[in-house]
Amino acid sequence: MNPLHFSQTGHRGPVTKIATNTFVVGFLLFASNLGLAQEAPPSFKAVDPPNRSLDASLYMQTSAEYGALCYQVYNLAAERLGQAKADFAKTSGGSSTKSAAVVMDLDETVFDNSGFQAMLVRSGLAWDLRLWKVWEKDWSASVGSIPGAKEFIQKAKRSGVAVVFVSNRDKEFEQQTKDALNRLGIGYDLLKLKEADGSDDKTLRFEEVQQKYDVLMYVGDNLRDLSEEFKFNQLSENSTAAELQDAINERRHRVEGYAGKWGSAQKPIWIVLPNPTYGEWTKPLGRGVRDLDRLVPEAKSSSAMPARPFPPAPSRPTDHKFLQEGISAMAGGATTLTGWSLAILGATVAGIVAGQFLRPAAKIRLVYLLFIPGWVLLGISIWYGDKVTRRVTAAGFTDNHDRLREIAASMNSEYAAQRDFFQFALLAFGCWLGCVLLWWVFAKERSKQT
Ligand SMILES: [Mg+2]
Repeated sequence: MNPLHFSQTGHRGPVTKIATNTFVVGFLLFASNLGLAQEAPPSFKAVDPPNRSLDASLYMQTSAEYGALCYQVYNLAAERLGQAKADFAKTSGGSSTKSAAVVMDLDETVFDNSGFQAMLVRSGLAWDLRLWKVWEKDWSASVGSIPGAKEFIQKAKRSGVAVVFVSNRDKEFEQQTKDALNRLGIGYDLLKLKEADGSDDKTLRFEEVQQKYDVLMYVGDNLRDLSEEFKFNQLSENSTAAELQDAINERRHRVEGYAGKWGSAQKPIWIVLPNPTYGEWTKPLGRGVRDLDRLVPEAKSSSAMPARPFPPAPSRPTDHKFLQEGISAMAGGATTLTGWSLAILGATVAGIVAGQFLRPAAKIRLVYLLFIPGWVLLGISIWYGDKVTRRVTAAGFTDNHDRLREIAASMNSEYAAQRDFFQFALLAFGCWLGCVLLWWVFAKERSKQT
């Protein structure tokens, strides 16, 4: 099996794009349905920072390393489970009333939901339980399987180890979960989902399983799939930046405390799948401290900086070039408009002064008053044009990308104003021209009749 072939998610082709778009539309419908409720639900939040899980999702969907990693994990798990099952048979001597079992999580352990993550990234939305429920309810056919999971489960069952899924998928959508398992050809002995009023904490469900089975192994992508001791207990809505950092450090230390256990044969065996896109680990992120500032070495700590400073961040040549081209284009357009404005001003003034214009009867001559707003509007347009050209000069004196963006943004609005006022002026002159044309047509006819 090709480790990259996540056939069920199918997120590589146009079909998936359509599906994703349909999904987004589905979400909108879903949102509008919610809007009919008495109290409007909170809107879906935009993800912050934008595209925060883009690389993580791409890693899962495009990297060969992710597939290899999953196979590696499941190959090790199969080996360990085989040993544990042999030990279990030896020690129990066939007298145990309990069967051996492996307890597995589902999402990102057996199920590949990267299509859902792709939807979030594409739509710029943050994770939201309402969206996840739509995925669970209506998109079970788009759930894929994690590389190696199915083979591992088959081996476990063949060796007489019961497969128990303990998942925080919603019990309400149990049928959809079963449908996905059936479609993927994944067998199991017991499925324990989260009850409507249940907790994310799996401990009680683990204990229920342990009453019936001797659990040899736990498999999950979230450490809480193994033990609740890996929960961020210390976090609250009001946690300070320091408390959040302490919680991160403390959780990592807990893992270090089990350094010799991960992947070893110590019972119960703990097997962890990689999931860079979501999970318990993301809880402190985006809170208290900018995510960027969590990276080490810290930007502001001189002691953490390398002896030889990094070179300054490279400017974005493509953006920079676009900006410069845009500024040049706007400058050219502004100059042309100013030229036209001056030409119209000159022609209208010269026409009147030189007496070359058509001279209608006294009443109709009032339409020449339209020249006044026309000239004023042209004057404002020229004034904006002058501002645009001044910005071009300013842009020539900086190579700073952010400054250039500011200049381009200001130019853009001033150029838009220049065009607007020019068009209003044309409207005024157009009205004048229309009136003169009508006079010219009907005045001629009257002279013929007399
Ligand atoms: Mg999971």
